[in-house]
Amino acid sequence: MPEQARRDELAASLAEVRERIARACTAAGRDPGGVELVAVTKTYPAADVVLLAELGVTDVGENKDQEAAAKAAAVAAAGTSVRWHFVGQLQRNKAASVVRYADVVESVGSLRLASALDAAATKHRDRPLDVLIQVSIDGDPARGGAVDPAAGRSPSGAFPEASSAAFADPERDLWRIADVLASAEILRLRGLMAVAPRDWEPARAFAALAATAARLRADHPDATVLSAGMSGDLEEAVRHGATHVRIGTSLLGMRNTLR
Ligand SMILES: *Cc1c(COP(=O)(O)O)cnc(C)c1O
Repeated sequence: MPEQARRDELAASLAEVRERIARACTAAGRDPGGVELVAVTKTYPAADVVLLAELGVTDVGENKDQEAAAKAAAVAAAGTSVRWHFVGQLQRNKAASVVRYADVVESVGSLRLASALDAAATKHRDRPLDVLIQVSIDGDPARGGAVDPAAGRSPSGAFPEASSAAFADPERDLWRIADVLASAEILRLRGLMAVAPRDWEPARAFAALAATAARLRADHPDATVLSAGMSGDLEEAVRHGATHVRIGTSLLGMRNTLR
């Protein structure tokens, strides 16, 4: 597609997404400027990141290290500056790569990864790295993420479909992970990230997440970020206090039809 046509297309979808966010804020009685957009550009080229930045997008999300590292280098070479959010499952052996280009790592879901990021950032960075704990709301063993044992036990939140094994795994205990991140000098614990489980009502998932976020803020007052909501459920996430929404499809198009 010629660059101007792609720019027009992205401008139109960006305006629509911004309008959706503003409407969701108004419906929730929130300040329309209170929710930040992270454009998830996975599978799309660096040229799209440059166009989005020219259209005013400041924050970009990627979920695979190899793709993200190459794209971040290409965008920087084009003279464009954006904040890179790593939002994907992260292997410990990729930590040393991710800490070199990421401004925010949103997907810390285990004690082991928290320690690996601390070590990698200490070695390879000279400025702090913002981190979010990725919460697994249902404790799905296949998908990873930290679990909030308090949510598993709470009277309203005794999720019958939740994995009890995950809720008993100290490696995935959100409160232990929070302590490790908060005591790491180079890392800044800024809040939580989550994806609503596929077979849950988003409203129920985001309500449980909001309760966990409130408990985290009580212990860590600087952990004010709540990254929740994607193309299909951003309205519900905003209603339950999301400060950041991560939008791919609604901005850039369907990923699987493009290539
Ligand atoms: C791909 C992805 C998104 C964006 O999802 P869309 O449904 O395309 O908006 C958000 N968050 C994460 C973690 C993702 O991997």
